[in-house]
Amino acid sequence: MGRIDKGAKCSVSSCGREAVRSLSTEKVKVAGLKVGNEKRAYLCKEHYKEYKKKTKKDKQIEKWRYSA
Ligand SMILES: [Zn+2]
Repeated sequence: MGRIDKGAKCSVSSCGREAVRSLSTEKVKVAGLKVGNEKRAYLCKEHYKEYKKKTKKDKQIEKWRYSA
């Protein structure tokens, strides 16, 4: 995971920047990013940052829920 083809473009609609990461589309959708229905979603630097931010937030909410 994480390897991408050279020249792949970000899968987020209306982006199209150069991708730096490939992730499963499911995970990216769960994080709230708009991607197509291909098996792999490609993310540019900015959207990968956004993806990480959102998944981190979800984990924090989960932690908070379980500790409550
Ligand atoms: Zn992007």
